[in-house]
Amino acid sequence: MIEQSLFLIKPNAVMRGHVGQIITMLEDQGFAIVKMKLFRFDEELARIFYAEHIGKEFYPRLQRFMCSGNTVALLLERENAIKVLRELIGDLSPEKRKPGTIRALYGDGVTENGAHASDSLESAKRETEVIFGA
Ligand code: ADP
Ligand code: MG
Repeated sequence: MIEQSLFLIKPNAVMRGHVGQIITMLEDQGFAIVKMKLFRFDEELARIFYAEHIGKEFYPRLQRFMCSGNTVALLLERENAIKVLRELIGDLSPEKRKPGTIRALYGDGVTENGAHASDSLESAKRETEVIFGA
């Protein structure tokens, strides 16, 4: 099934100049860019985007990090986009990241992991509305 997924290049990867390399990886894997923008999270947007994590012990660090610099958001389309993109970004845990995945290449830790990708079609729809509007 052709799907759309919401992808973020997080502030650590933008700051270190990896936007071009990451977009090249996405295009090489056959993703079409439907929408794209550069912006900076503020605390309110972080709370909406990461609502499911508010109250967890790592949330303050996550919010500080996401507001620390610019993010690049892309709405991406491909066959099986959700699953393929989750595999391409790699694991949350640095020890479990497969070589060649985006988080293995451009992650700087658990929180500063370089990339976000929607975990389901429902999340993709919600996150796309939050970032790009309805
Ligand atoms: P994913 O981004 O792989 O979907 P989660 O939805 O669980 O992972 O977490 C959202 C983001 O919060 C992660 O990408 C990471 O930046 C941060 N995060 C998650 N768990 C932790 C943790 N245990 N310690 C620090 N930061 C975390
Ligand atoms: Mg998640």
